[in-house]
Amino acid sequence: MRQNKIVTVGARSGIIKEQIVDAPEEEQTPKAREMAASFAVAAARFAASGFKLSDHADERVAVCESCEHMGTDGNWKNRCKLCGCFMKVKAKIKSETCPDRRWPK
Ligand code: SF4
Repeated sequence: MRQNKIVTVGARSGIIKEQIVDAPEEEQTPKAREMAASFAVAAARFAASGFKLSDHADERVAVCESCEHMGTDGNWKNRCKLCGCFMKVKAKIKSETCPDRRWPK
């Protein structure tokens, strides 16, 4: 899920128009508030499922490890940059899904 940013250009010349540009990487990742909300929903879904674990956790992690959305350093190491989750944990939870639908069923 690519995010864009609208910037105003030409303000000095008096000609103002807006242009859509790619947002910097740090602006494309989910914010803490969004991650807290989705964590709460995921926890409720996990509880509602009877705390079932996935039989495909290793396959899921393998997909994540070759995915361009997987973070590799700093605060994002081993976290998906689309959902903000720690993938080695999320992959184990049966009720969870890849936000980009890349995981096996
Ligand atoms: S959850 Fe999906 S989008 Fe995120 S790193 Fe894994 S495969 Fe990529």
